[in-house]
Amino acid sequence: MLLMGGSGRKTTVGGSARTTAADPPGRASPPVLSFDVRSPVDGSVVASVPDQGAEEVRAVVAGLRRNQPPWEALGPTGRGQWVGRLRDWLFDNDERIAELLQRETGKPWQEATLEVPLAIDSLEYYRKGAKKFLADAHPRPHDLLTATKKLTIAYRPYPVVGVICPWNNPVLLALGDALPALLAGAAVAVKPSELTPLATREIVRGWREDVGAPSVFECVTGAGETGAALVDEADYIQFTGSTRTGRRIAQRAAERLIPYSLELGGKDAMIVLADADLERAANAAVWGGMFNSGQTCTSVERVYVEEPVYDEFVELVVERVRRLRQRAPGQGYDTDIGALSSEAQLGIVERQVSEALATGARALVGGKRADVPGAFFEPTVLVDVDQSMLCMREETFGPTLPVMKVHDVDEAIRLANDSSYGLSASVWTRDRARGEHTARRLEAGAVNVNDMFANIFAIPLPQGGWKQSGVGARLGGAHGIRKYCRPQAVTATRLTPKSELFWYPYTARRGKLGQRLLRLLLARDWNRRLGRRRRDPDGPPDQGEKYEDQTIRNNAEPGPSSE
Ligand code: NAD
Repeated sequence: MLLMGGSGRKTTVGGSARTTAADPPGRASPPVLSFDVRSPVDGSVVASVPDQGAEEVRAVVAGLRRNQPPWEALGPTGRGQWVGRLRDWLFDNDERIAELLQRETGKPWQEATLEVPLAIDSLEYYRKGAKKFLADAHPRPHDLLTATKKLTIAYRPYPVVGVICPWNNPVLLALGDALPALLAGAAVAVKPSELTPLATREIVRGWREDVGAPSVFECVTGAGETGAALVDEADYIQFTGSTRTGRRIAQRAAERLIPYSLELGGKDAMIVLADADLERAANAAVWGGMFNSGQTCTSVERVYVEEPVYDEFVELVVERVRRLRQRAPGQGYDTDIGALSSEAQLGIVERQVSEALATGARALVGGKRADVPGAFFEPTVLVDVDQSMLCMREETFGPTLPVMKVHDVDEAIRLANDSSYGLSASVWTRDRARGEHTARRLEAGAVNVNDMFANIFAIPLPQGGWKQSGVGARLGGAHGIRKYCRPQAVTATRLTPKSELFWYPYTARRGKLGQRLLRLLLARDWNRRLGRRRRDPDGPPDQGEKYEDQTIRNNAEPGPSSE
């Protein structure tokens, strides 16, 4: 359970106070550190949780490693039963979890209560599909040499998967990644953000203590060092967070030669073409840019609008943003925008917006931190922005919408692609075929046509960023669970003679017979299959070669000699 308060020494974790519990008299046990989790709404301490160092993380992973083989042996159906019980527990405790989530994130109730059901959607998809997705595959032998073998691909889990999460959607991201890994047969250690560990920690406690499930799911808490310790111990790392941290994880994982999947930052562009349904596009821009106070990796971060509809679109957006209700969120539906996750985050948004305003942009709504206590930034619409401004180049985790006029779709695509990120994008047009065509010209891992974030809820689709936005992908049907497995190739021979042609002893007779056999199987034409070699490579091609050589000549790019 949560450790409330705490006396002892205090240091700082991610801006929060850290406490060292005093050793009991006469006992020299290692110091137990803890840190405070604060509400971004009023700065009050919500709870204290352990700050686990490398030694504790090592012990947790060692325990998971011990418990994993019987978990794998349960098979997908047995594991699915435990995960099904967790689903029931989540439904029974959803309001309590939402409350914790709200206290640690400052989200509106509507958004806090969405995380559990959305996580269950993916839980159910993988619980029901696990057996099929993890079933052995038996590819047919590709040639006569292996024709007598039974070929099998068995999906064997990585023993311990480390899931490292950010603070914006703590439950959705932790469960969305951890549950497919558990269903794959791995044991999982999840490391929530130091800003928002409470709801995740409570769910893992529920798994262990209330559901009574096997000890193959643990939560380790702390800041970056705790995450780094997990990267040092786990067999696979699933990371969601900033590009900066992702790069450090990739470096360490490369040293350890362990695989990883990185879901990183973005600077998602929305392209509004002149034939778009402007009302739908404006509603989507406002929700897509302001949902979760703009703290969504795939939120709308910059909008490019074709000239003929620019003024009307801006007017529609401004009208809607003015109506948004921002306040300290309670458990009602009277709040559209809550707090940012931390003062540090607010500082980044402030810096980007002030730089834009100082270099020629105008704020038609908002433009500054809200005039109330807590980490609130006013919902903001910026116009007269240009591509060089920080608000158009750096990731913004805040409720801001910079809108830029473009001449045509080509300019919009050029500007959208002019980014080191490539997470997602959206295209708005009444011509769906044109929208889909435009999507393929964008350098982003996901493109939604006339929609916002729709790909996030489409579990059969892979969710991965291009360029600096990631390596690998989550979800994506079978991929989302098989990624936590090592494919094991098993060959079992159906015929078992005492020896085989290519084994010892090497003799001229067996060697030549083997070569003839390979030629017979692999050569393209009968002359070669029967052992005849073409002695004059410059001579006229034989019948079998004619067509292919012609094709090669036709496809060849003219080299310098042909000029
Ligand atoms: P962050 O990179 O600062 O932290 C993420 C997690 O990594 C935290 O748990 C943190 O403690 C841990 N960490 C920090 N240093 C570490 C290290 N050296 N080794 C291991 N772990 C370490 O990110 P954040 O500020 O918490 O989250 C915001 C970022 O997350 C944004 O860039 C956002 O775009 C991204 N994000 C991406 C997706 C996606 O699916 N692509 C989804 C949500 C958020």
